[in-house]
Amino acid sequence: METSAATPGTPIELDAAFQGEQLRPGDAGYDDARAVYNGMVDKRPAVIARCSGVADVIDAVGLAREKGLPLAVRCGGHNVAGKAVCDDGIVADLRGMKGVHVDPQRRTARVNAGVTWGEFDRETQLFGLTTPGGRMTGTGVGGFTLGGGYAWSSTVHGLACDNLISAEVVTADGRVVTASEDENADLLWGLRGGGGNFGVVTSYEFRLYELGPMIYGGLVVHPIDAAKDVARAWRDWVEAGPEEVATALGVLLAPPEPFVPPEVQGTPVLGILAMYVGTADEGEEALRPLKTEIGPPAVDLLDRIPYTAFQAIVDPFSPTGWLNYHGGKHLAGLPDAAIDTYVDQGRKVASPMSQALIFRTGGAIARVPDDATAASHRAAPYMWHPIAAWSDPAESAEQIAWVRESYAAMEPYTTGGVYLNFEQDEGEAHVRAGFTPEKYARLVELKDKYDPSNLFRLNQNIAPSGATR
Ligand SMILES: Cc1cc2nc3c(=O)[nH]c(=O)nc-3n(C[C@H](O)[C@H](O)[C@H](O)COP(=O)(O)OP(=O)(O)OC[C@H]3O[C@@H](n4cnc5c(N)ncnc54)[C@H](O)[C@@H]3O)c2cc1C
Repeated sequence: METSAATPGTPIELDAAFQGEQLRPGDAGYDDARAVYNGMVDKRPAVIARCSGVADVIDAVGLAREKGLPLAVRCGGHNVAGKAVCDDGIVADLRGMKGVHVDPQRRTARVNAGVTWGEFDRETQLFGLTTPGGRMTGTGVGGFTLGGGYAWSSTVHGLACDNLISAEVVTADGRVVTASEDENADLLWGLRGGGGNFGVVTSYEFRLYELGPMIYGGLVVHPIDAAKDVARAWRDWVEAGPEEVATALGVLLAPPEPFVPPEVQGTPVLGILAMYVGTADEGEEALRPLKTEIGPPAVDLLDRIPYTAFQAIVDPFSPTGWLNYHGGKHLAGLPDAAIDTYVDQGRKVASPMSQALIFRTGGAIARVPDDATAASHRAAPYMWHPIAAWSDPAESAEQIAWVRESYAAMEPYTTGGVYLNFEQDEGEAHVRAGFTPEKYARLVELKDKYDPSNLFRLNQNIAPSGATR
């Protein structure tokens, strides 16, 4: 689709009936409203349309379509590629569309488009229920679910998108449609991992599971010199044990916290995060090896804690507004050589908020048939997730180089597949690597059906077959 940016100085007006706030350059609150998680992103929309409901979303979509303006769709604003905002176009800002309605009998939740995972967990945990959701409280339900959604509980309950029962969607031509197994099932298939390519989702219906309010989990920390041996022992334990053990490795700089010995603070360490997806009693038993055989650790913060506390465990390491560069690659396995490379690259970490993570995946994720959803690369048993996050722009080149060098070093151990929700904007070939070739072709067919003019292009874009590049 040919989009023309708004002429600077010409105000873009939404329909008079638009209920939400409209923010334009110069308005109080405009700069706060255009800021996203990644401080590298500095976009200046012509108007930020803070939608209050479905009708406002239809107006924002209609204005972009009629004027041929770029249209960005924003939920939590966590996308590191900064796709939630745009220059000289319209941002459909969904953050005002709050509301989580839990049906404890059916074990479902209906969730409006602006909800974050912290808000979701607060409501569902009242009933001791969960669904696989973001591992940081500020992440939006929207981008997370539509891009797949890897949660701590995913090895048992699948990806977030696997638990999406239905969605209400505003399409490019301004219709409101339901996507479910019974209605527009092809659209539901695409929303389960195909990103924001097919319309604006205004509400989601999720399947829920019993978990919490108390679970067993937390963090242990090991000196970096022991990291290779500890990571091998962790891998062997993970692969021999139950999939209820939700866990990740992380190389990071030890924080200046009272629980970290002073001589270790600021130096690289290996952390192991773990939660048992089951009762706290079962978890205490299942995670005991992290206190004994695998170590013992230098710092042990494993305990009975609220599920919501574990869901917030990485929040202190995820400050909004820092400069960020991330990657997400599926690993074919974790042979000793991959562990050595991971630790060697990880210990070059050079910022207090940077981390090199390896998540255990597989289990219920891999049991969903590959063609059942757009989400791809399900068979991979691990995901490697380097995160560079820094505050001084003078460090940008060095920080980005760390991630890119790590890519090259870890390449032999990847499946070649990427997880697009963790990735920067690297162009079409990269988006293709998010899917199998068959699925990419099917997604293009879906795009031709639901958005042939590529109105929804500010995302990890699947271009329709008629698109000019
Ligand atoms: C600190 C941090 C922690 C993270 N943790 C995890 C994790 O544990 N697991 C994981 O899988 N990912 C994780 N992510 C990645 C996350 O899934 C993506 O960044 C995702 O895009 C965030 O969704 P959002 O709604 O916050 O993003 P936004 O930036 O608001 O949206 C991203 C894109 O999603 C689309 N979108 C959002 N809402 C809608 C909608 N209603 N309709 C149509 N399209 C929509 C749009 O294309 C938009 O550009 C994390 C990211 C960060 C920064």
